[in-house]
Amino acid sequence: MQHIEARAGAVLHIDLQAVRDNYRLLRGRLGTAVCGAAVKADAYGLGAERIALALYAEGCRHFFVAHLEEGIALRSHLQQAAQIIVMHGSPVGCEADFLAYQCTPVLNSLSQIRAWQRLAQQEQRALPAIVQVDTGMARMGLSAAELAQLKQVPSLLDGIAVSHVMSHLACAEDQANPMNRRQLDQFRLLRQLFPDAKGSLANSSGIFLGPDFHFDLARPGAALYGVAPVAGQANPMKAVAYLQGRIIQTREIPPNTSVGYGATWRSTRVSRIATVAVGYADGWLRSLSNCGIAHIAGQAAPMVGKVSMDTITLDVTGVAEADLYPGALVDLISATNTVDQIAEKAGTIGYEILTSLGARYQRHYMNDTDAAGFRAGQAAGNTNQEEFTPALMGSQGVSV
Ligand SMILES: *Cc1c(COP(=O)(O)O)cnc(C)c1O
Repeated sequence: MQHIEARAGAVLHIDLQAVRDNYRLLRGRLGTAVCGAAVKADAYGLGAERIALALYAEGCRHFFVAHLEEGIALRSHLQQAAQIIVMHGSPVGCEADFLAYQCTPVLNSLSQIRAWQRLAQQEQRALPAIVQVDTGMARMGLSAAELAQLKQVPSLLDGIAVSHVMSHLACAEDQANPMNRRQLDQFRLLRQLFPDAKGSLANSSGIFLGPDFHFDLARPGAALYGVAPVAGQANPMKAVAYLQGRIIQTREIPPNTSVGYGATWRSTRVSRIATVAVGYADGWLRSLSNCGIAHIAGQAAPMVGKVSMDTITLDVTGVAEADLYPGALVDLISATNTVDQIAEKAGTIGYEILTSLGARYQRHYMNDTDAAGFRAGQAAGNTNQEEFTPALMGSQGVSV
């Protein structure tokens, strides 16, 4: 059992069982297609190593990262059977690192293809790769013009063993968007250039667009981490991240007293203000100023005033005095206040709430059944500890 340190100003709880359950739900949706996992950006801020180990134990063998550096970092923690796929492809001149660290590049342009081919020639063997084609993002992958060139000169791919052709959906969370069907048609067309390669199109939301979008390999990220995959529909995923911040102090202020930078909020009555040790330097977005909400022992407390670098301030006038002691933990992300709800208030998406999660949080992994050795060093030396009680996760628990 991992403990919460008394000196931690804020604690990020990451429920690995929920990650595993989410993976199973997505895999169940996929039928015969294989379910990989996007673990880029440190698994959306939740810890790529621990998340990948949990998913590996669940049977996941395809791990998608953005940068080569992310792939290299992950390689030392995953067994050979795990394929690490680098979506940006190789940085110029770093192709050999892919062999040294057993990563697979996504080839996004003719120049990336040529560089990979040069390495294959040097090695005198075919080298595996995934080829990305652009079907509507205009961001990465071979353009129509580049594909036409490939069609004319198939030898451009000599020495490259293309395992999959992939593309990425621009509007998948919006099921009614005609762009989805257009990209699907385009993907089917472009795939014909690679008759022996498997297909990969779906991200989290793409999985929910139905079997036509599944092809051979899916690449979900956000849904694994609890973000709702379909706009306007109940979220079938389990919440993974729970954030708690500590009360540093509370104070009573008279009516018509301003709180925080810019004096943007004023009390209208005698009010009690609690200061909590989480701020925008922890990824608690400043756009949540005067509009977020926290829960203290289940009681709602609105965030008032601007988010500071290291603190937020709550109006706790309605909260029981007994729950307002210094050191008390306040729920900032919970089952009743989800990343999607917070994102909506902040004018962003759940993805950004997760990937912004700060480096100052103590990270507490719940239901870790995979990496027993990991915990040995971590709990040592802690004396003043408390454990995370599920009650703090919100009275409704995780909704399905
Ligand atoms: C990030 C990413 C994914 C995962 O997307 P989610 O929406 O988080 O499921 C899949 N494919 C590509 C190319 C990506 O960049």
